[in-house]
Amino acid sequence: MLTTHSPSSREAGPAVKAVPPARRAAESSATHAVDPTVWQRILQNVRLHHPSLNRVWFDQMTPRQLTNGVIQVTVATPAQLNFCQSQCQQPFTHAAQSITGRLVAVSFHCENIPRGGVFNEGDQPLPLNPDYVFENFVTGPCNRLPHAASVAVGENPGKAYNPLFIHGGVGLGKTHLLQAVCQTILQREPGARICYLSCDAFMNHFLDAVQSGQMSDFRHRYRDVDLLLIDDIHFLTDKKLIQEEFFHTFNELYQHKKQIVLSSDSPPNEIPQLEERLVSRFNCGLVTRVDKACYETRVAIVKKKAALRGMAMPDDVACYIAASIDTNTRELEGAITRVQSVAMLRQIPIELDLARQALGDDAQAATAPQLTIQNIIDAVTQFYGVKLADLQSKRRHRSITMPRQVCMYLARKRTRYSLEEIGGYFGGRDHTTVMHALRAVQDRIDTEIAFRGEVEQIDRTLTSKAA
Ligand code: ADP
Ligand code: MG
Repeated sequence: MLTTHSPSSREAGPAVKAVPPARRAAESSATHAVDPTVWQRILQNVRLHHPSLNRVWFDQMTPRQLTNGVIQVTVATPAQLNFCQSQCQQPFTHAAQSITGRLVAVSFHCENIPRGGVFNEGDQPLPLNPDYVFENFVTGPCNRLPHAASVAVGENPGKAYNPLFIHGGVGLGKTHLLQAVCQTILQREPGARICYLSCDAFMNHFLDAVQSGQMSDFRHRYRDVDLLLIDDIHFLTDKKLIQEEFFHTFNELYQHKKQIVLSSDSPPNEIPQLEERLVSRFNCGLVTRVDKACYETRVAIVKKKAALRGMAMPDDVACYIAASIDTNTRELEGAITRVQSVAMLRQIPIELDLARQALGDDAQAATAPQLTIQNIIDAVTQFYGVKLADLQSKRRHRSITMPRQVCMYLARKRTRYSLEEIGGYFGGRDHTTVMHALRAVQDRIDTEIAFRGEVEQIDRTLTSKAA
């Protein structure tokens, strides 16, 4: 039986020492049942320290047993398993150690993984997110058509719209819809042969196959499926060889009436340097766009996301968050997380004042149009010592492209201009170039501390101006 430790020894490190080595060894090689109250405390601990991770279905997890120092936990679906394995292993292990005072780990399992059928590269289960199902997708004028088309494809793959091509800006629900199609089909037909992957993964797999001379394996894998879904297909831009290969894959599936679903940041004919014959293939089914959600839809999304996390979300707070953040749904989720974290930290219920404080900066950005692109250009040109004319030119030297990308990033973050408007300002660039810039800057912010410092410093001079 797994028992709890006294509160004084609960903090991770020393607690482990509290168990004499001989006893620990004896315990770790045996199998025990897990005390349900201990499990409840582990769950509570995770919920307290990782509120945004929490899902209401955590209540249905079953801690099966403690074997060789590992608490084996069963979840209901492969998508839940994927969520737990990719995001929950560490938090649950820390919680288990802190609650029991023992050097235990937590591992997740699922008994319903279909044999055969489902795969992606390397025959792993599909990387599906249990949140991304139709039930959790809020519809509004911005996404009614792509949603309806996805539902139809989920119900009638290969018959409704083929290919289904969904395009739109970042964070507007494309990946959510693609995964919802997969999960609908899998629920009805667990053995369906579905191939769902990102365009990046497809391209990497292709390059590996070329290098290792395993093209026939590659072809078999992608052409011998019932359903192929590729996310962010716009990354095919510019890649001649891969486009050629994908063209044949596409034709093979299409001729056999196998369903193809693609997502992209722009419509087929606006993907730069995409072969004409692919453009026309992509256009031959249904091409449909997701737009930014309107206020009412955003309110409903905030409520839906809160419910998934088991959060109590008063109406006025949902409205406030929806009114403050109008860029995309991913940022809406970030705002929910910030409000939730502040409430947890201060141990107070979620209410309007708290949301105002938690979202101070974002709300200000959304309601303070006084910051202009010119302010941003002034700050960036001064910081990097470049000229406006260079930023607006076609020059592609790194000393110019980097500050230009930072300008676009800050313009997107701090003003309400659209991607098209921002691109237009910086030398008539189109919105895909701006999206590429935003991604490039965000990637570097995430991975390079020094670069993040630079951008934050420029951003601070801007906010002090706006204040
Ligand atoms: P994209 O692939 O278009 O960049 P995602 O599908 O990754 O966007 O969506 C970003 C986040 O926003 C996800 O958590 C997704 O669940 C959520 N989301 C987007 N649109 C909706 C919607 N209409 N209803 C509920 N959640 C949504
Ligand atoms: Mg996506």
